Amino acid sequence: MLEIKNLHVKLEEQDKVILKGVNLTVETGKVHAIMGPNGSGKSTLSYVLSGRDGYEVTDGSALLDGEELLEMEPEARAAAGLFLAFQYPVEIPGVGNMTFLRTAVNAQRKARGQEELSAGEFLKVVREKAKTLKIDAEMLKRPVNVGFSGGEKKRNEILQMAMLEPTMCILDETDSGLDVDAMRLVADGVNALRDGKRSFLVITHYQRLLDHIKPDVVHIMADGRIIQTGGPELALVVEQNGYAEILKAHGIAE
Ligand code: ADP
Ligand code: MG
Ligand code: MG
Repeated sequence: MLEIKNLHVKLEEQDKVILKGVNLTVETGKVHAIMGPNGSGKSTLSYVLSGRDGYEVTDGSALLDGEELLEMEPEARAAAGLFLAFQYPVEIPGVGNMTFLRTAVNAQRKARGQEELSAGEFLKVVREKAKTLKIDAEMLKRPVNVGFSGGEKKRNEILQMAMLEPTMCILDETDSGLDVDAMRLVADGVNALRDGKRSFLVITHYQRLLDHIKPDVVHIMADGRIIQTGGPELALVVEQNGYAEILKAHGIAE
């Protein structure tokens, strides 16, 4: 379970305040979506949770299963079960995808006090997961993300997510958005990984992703706060009417 309380964040070495008291609880096994106009602080929230540099937390807390994330190094957050997708779609020429994945998985296992997987054990697990996610194992032999299409990068990221076995997955669609095929892939991957124990926070500017990933709860974020929370129907309201009405009701200029 992720419990964010009164989270205030500003840019480091600048006066700009971005998050102005975020309160959000994602219960175990649930899928929560955050929607909101551009610039409302959605990506900042995901970066701060994952421990990216450049932000200063001035107040509040973020507990993952009772542990304070904000005091942990990024690697420790990952070991605690947090996974942020779509953050670094890096290309690593010369490093095979399989090697990259195995290194990441074993670093994580070590941090969790588990034994490392042998090459054979790893191969077995990765093949199983690839099969579940309908990913061609051929992709595993190529260098990380080099020459991958947008869809292949997304597929690869979903596979990384599956291999690291996070309990709390944050997906930030980012402003560039996904094309319809990539969106489908992401949605299918998330749905395949939903198991009643793993939680998801799906951040999206548009409603369409939520046609495929059915959220339990939808939040609207604006001006650094969650201003409204509802069920899946809230996403449909936003799709039809835009944000104007909700923003106006909260005295926020568009
Ligand atoms: P969203 O993801 O909802 O579009 P962001 O979290 O990307 O919003 O940005 C929130 C606000 O903070 C925006 O006004 C953005 O310009 C500003 N911001 C975020 N990160 C930085 C940064 N590193 N430098 C300057 N401004 C930033
Ligand atoms: Mg933005
Ligand atoms: Mg964003």
